Amino acid sequence: MTTVVLLAADTTLLAQLQAAFARQAPELRVVLADDPAALHAQVAACWHPPAHSLERLPALQLVHSVAAGVDHLHSDSSRPDVPVCRVVDPDHRRGMTEYVRWAVLHFHRDFDRVTAQQRENRWQRHPQRPAGQFKVGVMGLGSLGAAIADDLANASYAVRGWARSARQLPGVGCHHGDDQFDGFLDGLDMLINLLPLTDATRGILCSRTFAALAPGAAIVNGGRGQHLRIDDLEQALVSGQLRGAVLDVFEHEPLSADDRLWQMPGVIVTPHMASAASHDCIARQVAENARRLLSGEPLNNLVDPTLGY
Ligand code: NDP
Repeated sequence: MTTVVLLAADTTLLAQLQAAFARQAPELRVVLADDPAALHAQVAACWHPPAHSLERLPALQLVHSVAAGVDHLHSDSSRPDVPVCRVVDPDHRRGMTEYVRWAVLHFHRDFDRVTAQQRENRWQRHPQRPAGQFKVGVMGLGSLGAAIADDLANASYAVRGWARSARQLPGVGCHHGDDQFDGFLDGLDMLINLLPLTDATRGILCSRTFAALAPGAAIVNGGRGQHLRIDDLEQALVSGQLRGAVLDVFEHEPLSADDRLWQMPGVIVTPHMASAASHDCIARQVAENARRLLSGEPLNNLVDPTLGY
């Protein structure tokens, strides 16, 4: 029998996943880490697995992230050298596309300015800029970033994209690699981050990046908190180089109640809500990869260990 062990510190998530596996994959034995049957688990389905939890699984053959990102697996440095897979869910794309579309409209149509004016009882109209003159750049053109770039291009924005390797997307000016990063950033009105967190991308939202954007640009961080240098953000907001930032992800989540980001002028904090895979989808994808693993078929959504995403 195939055994899947669920590893996460969040007990609510564990209960939700157990229920989803019972609905979607009743053929699997799904257990928690304290169950003796965990010793037989071939698959570990994880969200921030507790330290040393993976090394205690002698039968482990596959580590499966229950999210799109895999950086949280680093919370257990004892991870054995087995394949790692992630979840790629169409609902993720839909949720992230809606979130980014809202953020782009927020700045493009000056909702940030008029909501601030309302607090001062001030009536002031701002010149309306056609979408085609509003330059939006999307960092990361993978499952999420490509869908967003496509959505924004369909809404007539002037869209650029940046990835590691060369990409072609209709209506999107695609750039790739470190050499083309400055050309990608040059004069953007908005920068959207949908990169995975790796050694190459950590801290990419920094002063140097902000300085290349149009004065008064805005950013959205939908990737990971560690992509953003917070001191640099604060400085750019104070100087006016940035007019605003929509932040969905943070180095430490939940964001502590006394964190300075909550009250930083120009910052909108959202609680890592841009998009989430459904528990049923997670259960189906883990079950499918468990089946593939044991029948020797290629795994879906396999992470490249050399690239880290
Ligand atoms: P993918 O792996 O499908 O895509 C990653 C993209 O980033 C690819 O286009 C890749 O380039 C590019 N990339 C990676 N490294 C570099 C680099 N060094 N330089 C330039 N481009 C690079 O990831 P997803 O689209 O599925 O997800 C992206 C991230 O979004 C996740 O890792 C996660 O952190 C975050 N996320 C956030 C959520 C939220 O609710 N806020 C929800 C889900 C995910 P190439 O195409 O050449 O490989």
